Amino acid sequence: MRWARDRSSSAGGLGPGRRVGLPGAPQRHHVAKRPGGAVQCDLCPRHCVIPEGQAGDCRVRINRGGVLYAVTYGRPCAIHLDPVEKKPMFHFLPGTSILSVATAGCNLHCKNCQNWSISQADPETVRVLSWTQGEYGVSPKRLVNLAAARQVPSIAYTYTDPNIFYEYAYDTARFAHASGIKNVTVTAGYIEEKPLRRLARYVDGSNVDIKTMNPRFFEENCGGQLHYVLDGLVVARQEGIWIEVTNLVIPTMNDDPAETKKLCQWVLKYLGPDTPLHFSRFYPHHQLRNLPSTPVETLIRARDIARDVGLHFVYIGNVQGRDFESTFCPTCGKKVIGRVGYTITVNNLKDGKCGFCGHPIPGVWK
Ligand code: SF4
Repeated sequence: MRWARDRSSSAGGLGPGRRVGLPGAPQRHHVAKRPGGAVQCDLCPRHCVIPEGQAGDCRVRINRGGVLYAVTYGRPCAIHLDPVEKKPMFHFLPGTSILSVATAGCNLHCKNCQNWSISQADPETVRVLSWTQGEYGVSPKRLVNLAAARQVPSIAYTYTDPNIFYEYAYDTARFAHASGIKNVTVTAGYIEEKPLRRLARYVDGSNVDIKTMNPRFFEENCGGQLHYVLDGLVVARQEGIWIEVTNLVIPTMNDDPAETKKLCQWVLKYLGPDTPLHFSRFYPHHQLRNLPSTPVETLIRARDIARDVGLHFVYIGNVQGRDFESTFCPTCGKKVIGRVGYTITVNNLKDGKCGFCGHPIPGVWK
């Protein structure tokens, strides 16, 4: 079996390899039979080969009788109405709310994870929303109906990684599109190309975490191979998804200016200068509680590097003030969208263009 993870990052429970009892939905795609009743999951680069009665590395895919079950299907552990700015998505229907959903589990094991209590837990130990009893407590159709009833224009698959609740996200996204509701994934991008392209048909926007440009740091801190994330971003761009990138700047771990420059140059080259880049402030979490919060000066330095490299829309997140989160026109320099926290304070966008000089501001605006 290929378990490529650091067990020490577990939040509790037995993790992969244990039998769990939740019913779940069968995984019909991106899966293959293997000798002796094992099945191989091909959703993500781990390609776990899972014997009968055991779980994959993400804990939420269980082999029962030679069929792989996604046991969190229809069992969200969180549903919230968030400002879309919280994802963060700044060039995507600004000022609207987004129905945000998550289930337990993750295929990465980042030592800094702020949602580790649900991402690194066995699914049966995470409290599913109390009103979600039954086989599929909140079916995809019910989620879409919830969004429609609240008149929100989009649904986010977020908090944990939608790649892990792939079937649930896929079915919901399909129904959502049929109802005129858009879909946003907030993801670390650790997914194989085929499932990504399949899901992309229904995904309008995505915030993808580039955690580092250092493969060794990605392996040691997150337990994965960095190139899959970068390759997936190129695929997502090819598929026409509106992409925003987040980089969480962790003191002493990935805050070297040379690394920041490398990241910015990669975004410029492969995603383009109009790709919004969010530098996010780190606060001590999970297994990195020994580190301090990111100094604001470090974030300002990162933003300046990105601008010097040639990126047009660079933001600083988790720090309020000084227009860190506002959108400025790359041509005339005036403030097109003002933000304080998750609140829009001014909107000078006119039909997707700067209201002052008419320069197009790329994004999903309606
Ligand atoms: S999605 Fe889960 S079970 Fe499938 S390969 Fe990735 S970690 Fe393994």
